[in-house]
Amino acid sequence: MDRVRDVIIIGAGPAGLSAAVTASGYGLDVLVLDEQPSPGGQLYRNIERAKEDTLKTLGSDYSNGLALVEKFRKSGAAYIGNAIVWRIDPNCNICFSAAGQSAEISGKNIIIAIGATERPVPFSGWTLPGVMGAGAVDANFKSSGSIPDGPVVLAGSGPLLLSVVGHMVSLGVEISAVLDTTPRGNIFSALPLLPGALRRTDYLLKGVGMLLNLKRSGINYFKGITDYKANGSDCLETVTFKTKNSSQQIDAELLLVHEGIIPRCDFSQQIGLKHLWDPVQRYWYPETNEFGGTGMNGIYVAGDGAFVHGGIPAAFKGSLAALDIAGKLNVLLPAQKTGDVVMTAKRLLSELAPRPFVDALYKPRMNLYNINDETLVCRCEEITAGDIRQAIRGGSREPNEIKTITRCGMGHCQGRMCGIALTEIIAENLKLDPADLRPLHIRPPVRNISLAELSRVALLKDETP
Ligand SMILES: Cc1cc2nc3c(=O)[nH]c(=O)nc-3n(C[C@H](O)[C@H](O)[C@H](O)COP(=O)(O)OP(=O)(O)OC[C@H]3O[C@@H](n4cnc5c(N)ncnc54)[C@H](O)[C@@H]3O)c2cc1C
Repeated sequence: MDRVRDVIIIGAGPAGLSAAVTASGYGLDVLVLDEQPSPGGQLYRNIERAKEDTLKTLGSDYSNGLALVEKFRKSGAAYIGNAIVWRIDPNCNICFSAAGQSAEISGKNIIIAIGATERPVPFSGWTLPGVMGAGAVDANFKSSGSIPDGPVVLAGSGPLLLSVVGHMVSLGVEISAVLDTTPRGNIFSALPLLPGALRRTDYLLKGVGMLLNLKRSGINYFKGITDYKANGSDCLETVTFKTKNSSQQIDAELLLVHEGIIPRCDFSQQIGLKHLWDPVQRYWYPETNEFGGTGMNGIYVAGDGAFVHGGIPAAFKGSLAALDIAGKLNVLLPAQKTGDVVMTAKRLLSELAPRPFVDALYKPRMNLYNINDETLVCRCEEITAGDIRQAIRGGSREPNEIKTITRCGMGHCQGRMCGIALTEIIAENLKLDPADLRPLHIRPPVRNISLAELSRVALLKDETP
């Protein structure tokens, strides 16, 4: 572990790639680690090998990523793909595993740029084969060109849901229904924020376009859905859904669910950063300054992992983190730093203009976690909502205490699937504000690795160029 990088970046999505390009541009010694086989992250997944029809289906939101990846490839930053980071520490040491072996490496700074994930929401039948996240369809399509067989039902709320529907329509996938859970009343709390959003009419028009395309497609589009569940014995057979006044059931082989996107806090929680609760989109996010700097010296969080703002803002946030590091390492003059920071921050601000409106418009429904006692919340340890409520009735009030008592969040996913549900269930049962609770402590290894990988960790060195 003798080589100390200026900056090690975890994640090669828009945030990590931009951070690497900026930092390398100032001559810093940069290493990027990503678990995917090639750079691009969630948004630009597999962009370097994308086929013509993939580019055509996904449009410029996707194809624009190629320029960033090409810049990154030319930047001089070292890159290791298929590298799973499983631990970081406040001294900026990182443990990762690649090709069946682990290594411990060290940096002067770490930028955590691991992005976001679809919000996992337990509901009746969510563990049945045939139920999956809507974003996974796009991810599979980008990686391998595979598309689902119909009939498909999509349920949930948010721009990504509409975007996935649009892609599936253009690919000719049979869609039985789209069940929109966006609360009808959201528009009233969003409207006061519209003037700010009008500064970026391009984004608003894009959203309107997606809705119009959905309506024109002739797909059964149900709005005001208050609840849905998946039914079947061994796999999904039907989906039941409710509106305020009625209930219906439809046949489905695949149910794609999307209830918004939340930051991935794997490392910010593991290392013990302070987290805040966003009351609008209802998620934990790490406390950071305008550069993504945290309460720990040398530890930065950039991109959607700091707060969900989307791909283009993620890239600007990555650059800002790199600029701050370059300033601290004295490789750019203060005036140069100020100039670059002002320009980048201005562009970021412009991108963020529509965000408060969109976040309010797609605020999750109140009853999102109003699940019955039999429903599994922690899939790894098979802990139900009833088990959690029983622990609360027994006097427990704190997520980590309930984790210890029930094992909810103690399984191999380390609470990624159940942590937020646990927070919400406790808050609802005790009539607390989630902001008054604390997120789960995550222990390393944050990802699954074999004992063999763990035992060899100290023997390997960072020998990348
Ligand atoms: C399922 C899904 C689909 C999405 N689809 C779209 C879309 O179609 N259009 C759109 O505009 N936005 C989409 N988004 C939002 C979009 O992902 C983000 O706005 C954007 O990609 C954020 O960029 P980022 O650099 O912060 O993170 P990401 O692009 O997510 O990049 C993070 C990278 O970190 C890597 N990583 C995570 N954990 C580890 C680890 N332990 N070790 C090593 N590497 C790790 C990941 O493999 C990933 O490559 C989607 C989000 C999700 C969750």
